[in-house]
Amino acid sequence: MLTVNAIAATSATDPLVRTTIERRDLGARDVLIEIRYAGICHSDIHTVRGEWGDVSYPLTVGHEIVGVVTEVGGEVSKHAVGDRVGVGCMVNSCRECPNCRAGQEQYCENGNTGTYAAVDRDGTVTQGGYSTHVVVDQDFVLRVPESIPYEAAAPLLCAGITTYSPLAHWKAGPGTKVAVVGMGGLGHMAVKIAVAMGADVTVLSQTLSKKDDGLGFGAENYHATRDEATFEALRNTFDLIINTVSAPIDMASYLGLLRLDGTLVSVGAPPEPLPVPVFALFGNRRSFAGSGIGSIGETQEMLDFCAERGIAPEVEVIGADDVNDAYERVLRSDVRYRFVIDIDTLR
Ligand code: NAP
Ligand code: ZN
Ligand code: ZN
Repeated sequence: MLTVNAIAATSATDPLVRTTIERRDLGARDVLIEIRYAGICHSDIHTVRGEWGDVSYPLTVGHEIVGVVTEVGGEVSKHAVGDRVGVGCMVNSCRECPNCRAGQEQYCENGNTGTYAAVDRDGTVTQGGYSTHVVVDQDFVLRVPESIPYEAAAPLLCAGITTYSPLAHWKAGPGTKVAVVGMGGLGHMAVKIAVAMGADVTVLSQTLSKKDDGLGFGAENYHATRDEATFEALRNTFDLIINTVSAPIDMASYLGLLRLDGTLVSVGAPPEPLPVPVFALFGNRRSFAGSGIGSIGETQEMLDFCAERGIAPEVEVIGADDVNDAYERVLRSDVRYRFVIDIDTLR
């Protein structure tokens, strides 16, 4: 066992604190990673606050992890000491079910093993990336291209892949009109990636306060959703809407923005249900779908795509003692556009 420095939640309501956690001994197929940066995803906040259900405390979250390999097990062939690597939202899966065999292990029928708050094969609860080191099976470790700075690479491991996957699946590209709802961590990556794929992109944000940024990321249009006129002006417009909002939205209003055969995909994960009035689906033969992260193969594809296209998240690097303030700012939608913890401040 390796005892390492970490930041943990001790309850759903108390501030996160510095502590130590244990990492398992390196197995034959494991990689030991010295973590450099860890992104703060809104899912971390939903989880530590118990909004998605009960979790066991103390809990260390964080599933946007980048660092350098410092040791490998005897059977490791995919990674070597010194490699720049990343770990995202899952660290294992059953590898035997149809979805795992199809390379869609994020949809493992037996449940993928989350990077934190999941029960691992050895019965322990997984602990995430707000820590100095992590031990991960080589198959769930990604290569981070040299051209992406470490701190900017971190958010790609969740915000990047979670938006790339539905944009690729629903074929965002030249000739398609894509709307992105909510321009936070996921939303700003959805804009950048959809633009790089060649789509015509519109941002639907609560207000126009980030309009210059959205247009700077390559969006053609930017509208405020607090203005009712937006929903009239944009009726029957989009082929694809990616909803990244962490709270419930009014489904009828947003479905009305889809043109014939359009799809609204929710990646935002509010704890409450999103009630769908079926009549909003009948018009234009609309679809409502969800999408969860992406496979390991697709995550590598996304990292390579971002490196080739020169796309990187906008990050605000913070120290270990700033995490509680950062959580409050995320909850106020005051994030430009991802907080990333400099893990050197934890050593
Ligand atoms: P975030 O940085 O907080 O961004 C969410 C954005 O939604 C905010 O910046 C804000 O954008 C908008 N928003 C927030 N509250 C709102 C409200 N009450 N009404 C309307 N708009 C509101 O969060 P994130 O890290 O991008 O995560 C977004 C959601 O995706 C979370 O629920 C997270 O758990 C989920 N998620 C899901 C997956 C998956 O696999 N499906 C993966 C990762 C994260 P504006 O200021 O532009 O309005
Ligand atoms: Zn996440
Ligand atoms: Zn499986």
